[in-house]
Amino acid sequence: MSENLDPFEIALKQLNKAAEVMKLDRQALELLSSPMNIFQFSIPVKMDDGKTKVFQGFRVRYNNARGPAKGGIRFHPDETLSTVKALSAWMTWKTAITNLPLGGGKGGVICDPKKMSQGELERLSRGYVRAAYEFIGPEIDVPAPDVYTTPQIMAWMMDEYEKIARHSAPGVITGKPLEIGGSLGRGDATARGGMYVLEEAAKSIALDLSKVKVAIQGFGNAGQFAMKLVSEMFKSKVVAISDTKGGIYLESGLDYNKVMDHKKKTGSVSNFPGAKNISNEELLELPVEVLIPAAIENQIRGDNASKIKAKIVLELANGPTTPEADEILFKNKVMVLPDFLANSGGVTVSYFEWVQNQGGYYWTEQEVYDRLRLKMNQATHDVLFTAKSHNVDNRTGAYIVSVKRVADAMKLRGWY
Ligand code: NAD
Repeated sequence: MSENLDPFEIALKQLNKAAEVMKLDRQALELLSSPMNIFQFSIPVKMDDGKTKVFQGFRVRYNNARGPAKGGIRFHPDETLSTVKALSAWMTWKTAITNLPLGGGKGGVICDPKKMSQGELERLSRGYVRAAYEFIGPEIDVPAPDVYTTPQIMAWMMDEYEKIARHSAPGVITGKPLEIGGSLGRGDATARGGMYVLEEAAKSIALDLSKVKVAIQGFGNAGQFAMKLVSEMFKSKVVAISDTKGGIYLESGLDYNKVMDHKKKTGSVSNFPGAKNISNEELLELPVEVLIPAAIENQIRGDNASKIKAKIVLELANGPTTPEADEILFKNKVMVLPDFLANSGGVTVSYFEWVQNQGGYYWTEQEVYDRLRLKMNQATHDVLFTAKSHNVDNRTGAYIVSVKRVADAMKLRGWY
């Protein structure tokens, strides 16, 4: 993502690029260039000091032609309507890529949860639901956790919704704790979904994953599970990982449990016994077959893209590759598995949670994994096939798949 562009402008640029390649109908493009609905509301919250503070909240329903909107709620001091709009557009493409019968939405509150007590957070979460009650619902728009919102916050929100509705409605929100309707398999869903994408992509180029070296940037939820799963599922060798303080490299391979212990003891992955300390920049340029950016945006750029040696880049992070880098990687035949495909395992298991809530019948962990694998393998096949047939990069290919699905649904509904 370019830093000086407004996030929604970036989302529109990406849409327009795909629209041009696929020769999208002008009316469909116009419909897809703005949200169907924007809701903005004030949330008065009684703070611990007895004074009332008024927070600004948003919920954007970008498109619901394929089903109820789906997307997280962020609690962030720098939240803006433009960010929420852009994220709701990206959710529309993300739910369509794995062919979920859902649309895209997003919500946010301008607040600093790190400076709020649990009681204040609970009152804010309940206030959000009271203000947004008309716009959300299991068949309307289904929120989920996102930046600084947690399963506990989802539990409060569900409870408030049910109190107003006066009936049980666990499908109003996903990412709930297991005890009140959450799904098994949610914890590592993003990384696991990414593994199923990697599996299908490697198959398409006859790459034996048991023989590859892997470098992973970022060691949070996405990066840690990616390290664990890539070693367990494929026996691949993870040779490098990193966090904000820098990275480590060990050519013979790093052991997941030992690295986790080291990180717990020292607070970072750096100075791991036997490994060489490297910078985050160096990690990206290592001689590996698979590179997994799982940290932050704008890591692979015009100035370093030509130094990437990996055959496959699995984007678990959102926006790790800039448009300029995309062109270089495509020219150098590096297979990029774009973010909204690679990290869509999270929303796919969220969808499974909603399905289980709506049906009132819960699946085993293995059932979740098997269904996730089917969805992710198929989505990867669709993206690779479409990109190849249009001779475009995989990101544009993924856009074409999603935009076509949403446009077809709008056409059938008679929206254009
Ligand atoms: P997290 O906060 O748990 O972890 C982020 C990790 O990145 C940390 O290890 C941090 O040390 C590291 N990091 C931060 N800045 C860095 C830098 N400059 N260089 C190297 N490492 C750096 O976050 P997460 O949930 O793992 O998310 C990581 C990325 O994956 C984000 O882009 C997020 O949007 C994306 N993502 C996550 C999920 C999910 O379910 N967790 C779903 C979709 C997308």
